[in-house]
Amino acid sequence: MDERTARREIVRVGQLMYERGYVVSSDGNLSVRLADDRVVATPTQTSKGRMTEDSLAVTDLAGKPLSDRRASSELAMHLLIYRERPEVRAVCHAHPPHGSAFAVAGLAIDQPILSEVILTLGCVPLAEYGTPSTDELTEAMLPLVKNHNALLMANHGAVAYGADIWQAFDRLETLEHTAKIAILARALGGSRNLPPDAIEKLIEVREAAGYLDERARCQACGYLHETRITCPTGERDRTPQSSAPRPHANGAGRISLTREELIELLSQAARLKN
Ligand SMILES: [Zn+2]
Repeated sequence: MDERTARREIVRVGQLMYERGYVVSSDGNLSVRLADDRVVATPTQTSKGRMTEDSLAVTDLAGKPLSDRRASSELAMHLLIYRERPEVRAVCHAHPPHGSAFAVAGLAIDQPILSEVILTLGCVPLAEYGTPSTDELTEAMLPLVKNHNALLMANHGAVAYGADIWQAFDRLETLEHTAKIAILARALGGSRNLPPDAIEKLIEVREAAGYLDERARCQACGYLHETRITCPTGERDRTPQSSAPRPHANGAGRISLTREELIELLSQAARLKN
């Protein structure tokens, strides 16, 4: 994408985030990584609803300014994601009210309640609290970035990313919509999770269609919370020749699961429920 298009789209998506109430005041930030690894980012202390194309900042991947505009103080979060996920070209960070309510309540958005969300987003884990715009925040996010396409940050907000700014925005929108539906369902007495075989089928469909790859398989983990298996905390040591599913981790240490073992666990969880 050329820089002009990137600037135009950042301004447009900023307006949408503001109009949809995902940000107020000067909250949130957006960025696009250009082909030459320069990053066009929203400026500091500016409403996302009234940015202009020439108000945006440009930095390199280390955050070094390449323009006279100062980038958002939360740029480090974006740069972390670009470093961890070379295919990601855009990042949207906001404080959407329903998604942020989960983050404030200390909850991930990881229950398998909506088929479309399993197909297109996967589970959204909760990163521990870290002071915004410091290393604390990026360190809390680091283990989660590889295996997810959106994250909640405890007592803060949400971030979503993708192959372009529209995919990043769509994922943020899906996150917020899912959180809203989950809260509404709770008011109606609670949501019912999709059964394990349905989750397995959705995971097959999304991988065959190329919506999400095997890195996102932890969608099923939400269902497995009853068995005390939580979302993967990522994997930093995966060897390229390995085709095994990524290891999962719980608070006590790491465990690995094959696809078959995962299905077996899911079935066990289903039997426990009945
Ligand atoms: Zn923020």
